Amino acid sequence: MRIAYARLYQESNALSPVLTTLEDFREVGILEGDALAQACTPRGHEVQGFLRNGELSGFVKAARREGPAELELIPLFSALTIPAGPLDAEAFAWFEDRLRADLLAALPLDGVFLALHGAMCAEGITEPEARILEMVRSVVGDARVAVSLDMHANLTSRKINAADVIAGYRTNPHRDHASTGARAARMLLRQLTGRTRPTVAWRSLPMLLGGGLMLDFWKPMRAIFQRMKAMERDPRVLDVSLFQAHLWNDHPDLGWSSFVVTDGDPALADELADELAELCWAVRHAMPPRPSDPSEAIATARAARVARTFGAVFLVDASDAVGAGGTGENTRILEALLREGQGLRAYVPLRDPRTVTTCWDLEPGTQLTVSLGGGLDPASNDPLSVDATLVTKRSTRATGRAVVLAVGDTRVLVTEGSALALEPSFFTDMGLQPFAADILVVKSLFPWRMHFVAQNRKSIFVKTSGITDLDAAWSLDFHDPVHPRDEVACWRPADGRRRGLQDDGPGAHLDSPT
Ligand SMILES: [Zn+2]
Repeated sequence: MRIAYARLYQESNALSPVLTTLEDFREVGILEGDALAQACTPRGHEVQGFLRNGELSGFVKAARREGPAELELIPLFSALTIPAGPLDAEAFAWFEDRLRADLLAALPLDGVFLALHGAMCAEGITEPEARILEMVRSVVGDARVAVSLDMHANLTSRKINAADVIAGYRTNPHRDHASTGARAARMLLRQLTGRTRPTVAWRSLPMLLGGGLMLDFWKPMRAIFQRMKAMERDPRVLDVSLFQAHLWNDHPDLGWSSFVVTDGDPALADELADELAELCWAVRHAMPPRPSDPSEAIATARAARVARTFGAVFLVDASDAVGAGGTGENTRILEALLREGQGLRAYVPLRDPRTVTTCWDLEPGTQLTVSLGGGLDPASNDPLSVDATLVTKRSTRATGRAVVLAVGDTRVLVTEGSALALEPSFFTDMGLQPFAADILVVKSLFPWRMHFVAQNRKSIFVKTSGITDLDAAWSLDFHDPVHPRDEVACWRPADGRRRGLQDDGPGAHLDSPT
């Protein structure tokens, strides 16, 4: 028995004009063949600096345990890059051609496992990952196709029809990459060896909310994930996934979805997928707390003396969340700090390759006037002119070339690459000590909290205006009225249309990939 495996993974923000290139994937590192197999061992790193044991390691380990002794696993490639704009046409074509060629070379195959995100966009293509799955299907014929997806995937009929196995993350922030790969492996191997006869059902909700804020261990989602676990305790249920969609993924049927796999029991799959959809619809009014504007946030930070003494106050730049595809060059919080933050030591990340280049040949201590931001996405971001002193220039793994500029009491960490500010090393590698700051600006919605536990004494969500605001998604095109942009009385009409049903009722027939 022969099964090939690969990863092609990016969460794209359709509103970003900063297209993702092949070079962006290469900077993170594309692994192939034996190097990939080695990376998928327990001591390996699947994606250096990002992910140790992920979906592919989990898949390999579980497939070996579930599969027959003669199972042969064929590593193809693994490519991942951080969220940004859609893949440019060249990058997408390169990966599509590469995967097709690798699969043809690996034939005959009994199965294929792909670790995808599910919210990738590509220039000029409506649903690039469905196209990838359809291509794989056309190459491998009757071989089974398994796929793992991020919880923020957009599930569609096309993806479901092209795959035999779908497993989605069930933690947010995501901590279950490896176990998701393992779930896909178990379903695939049991199908291939005739031990199960999977039937699937799903629902699609015309609803967009949450993003990184609907946490699996916090209300209102905790009860829903507990119910999913309870569903799986029924031996007839093979797997349950819930997808919350990436808000800025350009697809007319974007929304949350439920997906249930049972062993030869389509009625039960349908019943549970429907129940899960109803549970999600019932929490649709659970909006995150109202974010602050920059002035409010700075005033709150100033008043939080104890928090500033024992750590820092974190301002989360929700309008420019690089983890959700923001460009990282929004200057609005910086502008407010320079105006109202006197006496507060603040560290502000900002992506501006042009300024890094300007500073690179200067000596530390040089004074200069620079225009910051607004070079990558001028339609969304205004440049800000400042009088600054160059403090540091270094090249780091997280940022590429970067410089620190002193502007009054603020230190601006200007990067050529990502300005995500996910971990303390983002600052310390540039000589900035988080404990010395009153205010740290981060451009990640939630995952930064796991890395800044020691420093984080208070955090404030700040909304200005940018491409990772919920309401920014309303500029995208949708087939149906979508909550909360529109008043939506019932989710079933949109769901029925999305699933291609004649009638919209809960007992209607389901799509099945098998
Ligand atoms: Zn996600």
